[in-house]
Amino acid sequence: MTDYLEESAEARRSLNFIEQIIEEDLRNGKNDGRVHTRFPPEPNGYLHIGHAKSICLNFGLAIRYNGKCNLRFDDTNPTKEEQEYVDSIKDNVRWLGFDWEDREFYASDYFDTLYEFAVKLIMKGKAYVCDLSAEEISNMRGTPSVPASPSPYRNRGVEENLDLFRRMKAGEFPDGTRTLRAKIDLASPNMHMRDPVLYRIMHTAHHRTGDRWCIYPMYDFAHGQSDSLECITHSICTLEFEVHRPLYDWFIRELEIFPSRQIEFARLNLSYTVMSKRKLLELVNAGLVNGWDDPRMPTISGLRRRGYTPASIRLFADKVGVAKRDNVIDIALLEHCLREDLNKKAPRRMVVTKPLKVIIDNYPEDLVEELDAINNPEDPEAGTRKVPFSKEIWIEQDDFMEAPPKKYFRLAPGTEVRLRYAYFITCVGVEKDDAGNITCLHCTYDPASRGGNSPDGRKVQGTIHWVSASHAVAAELRVYEHLFTREDPDNVDEGGDFKDYLNPDSLKVLQARAEPSLDSPEVLSNFQFERIAYFSVDQDSKPGQPVFNRTVTLKDSWAKQGVR
Ligand code: ATP
Ligand code: MG
Repeated sequence: MTDYLEESAEARRSLNFIEQIIEEDLRNGKNDGRVHTRFPPEPNGYLHIGHAKSICLNFGLAIRYNGKCNLRFDDTNPTKEEQEYVDSIKDNVRWLGFDWEDREFYASDYFDTLYEFAVKLIMKGKAYVCDLSAEEISNMRGTPSVPASPSPYRNRGVEENLDLFRRMKAGEFPDGTRTLRAKIDLASPNMHMRDPVLYRIMHTAHHRTGDRWCIYPMYDFAHGQSDSLECITHSICTLEFEVHRPLYDWFIRELEIFPSRQIEFARLNLSYTVMSKRKLLELVNAGLVNGWDDPRMPTISGLRRRGYTPASIRLFADKVGVAKRDNVIDIALLEHCLREDLNKKAPRRMVVTKPLKVIIDNYPEDLVEELDAINNPEDPEAGTRKVPFSKEIWIEQDDFMEAPPKKYFRLAPGTEVRLRYAYFITCVGVEKDDAGNITCLHCTYDPASRGGNSPDGRKVQGTIHWVSASHAVAAELRVYEHLFTREDPDNVDEGGDFKDYLNPDSLKVLQARAEPSLDSPEVLSNFQFERIAYFSVDQDSKPGQPVFNRTVTLKDSWAKQGVR
């Protein structure tokens, strides 16, 4: 994927700290010059933009250093994991443009090996079966300054431990009655080293191993070892795993397995967004959004349905870079990256969102002209299309004012404007209903201004878009705002909940009139509706009844800030 390197070279020029570490390892001849990363999701929900960051980072490093990147599902918790999530994750990674080739792995494929690892620890006297309940273990954990109390089972003999662990596996004990714990250091200031639980009993079927197991490894006993088993050279993960690293390194030493090097970076946080699968699941389950792919969701499937392009997300991931400290990225940067991409790619179309009828008094009754309109001024190869023009057209209500203020350059009684690609028109009359609402405008056109060109050098101040009334297609526009009203919905006051800050106006539906070329557009295709916003075609579209999602507005608040 050479595109990827070009894109990212454009986005930034200096090495980030992870690349510095990798290049140093390469210089030192570590791992025989191999770079092997992985993206390790837990299939317990749909991926979000934070995961996209991690995907771009891991696959991107493999591309940059001629290495490999695995897709590995860390599926150690059968109560929360499902095949549906596995499928959506694979689909998302592919859509983002990355390829794991034949390297699709599952922690559950290693259950036998992990069991053997546990046995090895028991034999070395480094693990024991503990009969305490989860609550008792937690009560005895101590505090960072007070050591944990030893479990009464801590000094069980190797034979007894092996026997009990075998019987745990054989299904002899009910859920929660026993665990296997590592025997490390009860006084360690790192709580993760205080005899962490390695295995728990769970009589639950697993989405891949079925009923074969009733004991499951904890995430901490599976994640790092899975990296080692795959000979991952650089295990990149988010900061909260920094405190787990000593434990993972302890496993590497005690089990004498491949020493994957863990490197932590700060999770991506976005303003006006929540970014945890648990919270997103809550929104879905409570019906507060219309599913995981609701275009307001920060999920990859939501962004995709909204009209985000893979290139825009990759560009964003690159611009964000990698940080060592937690921070919040302005959602305006994500939108900026999207505009950068869409501006080059999205064909322009004319759509009137709040229609006002205009009758052109001097235009022949039955005449229909097919006028040429440019598809994309940024892309000469996109060519032109024909747009029909006739006596009755729709324009935006906002493009007319009966009593305009100074410097209003659109239509007003007696003023002349350009109809894009069509003619100059002058407003000569206003029709109203009994309540005084404007129902229709009367205009005259200058036949010599065909194509919107001035016939005699005279200038008009405004250019507005329009659609022919008898040819227009009724289109549904779904206009989105941020899902939350607060920049930091996660950071709520005492007793509050992130759901208290849902934006009641995050979705508005408009019935618009679109030019006829938008009659049956392809689902997910992107457009710029001139002067309005970027839109993409929703899957609810039907021929003759197109439905569009507002992808992003035209105004770039990020570029305006001058911060790049
Ligand atoms: P969440 O906390 O949102 O539910 P998670 O960390 O539990 O996500 P995993 O499936 O364990 O989700 O994550 C897969 C990979 O994606 C991990 O390597 C994780 O570090 C990374 N990741 C998850 N969230 C983010 C984020 N916000 N920014 C960057 N990387 C992330
Ligand atoms: Mg996780």
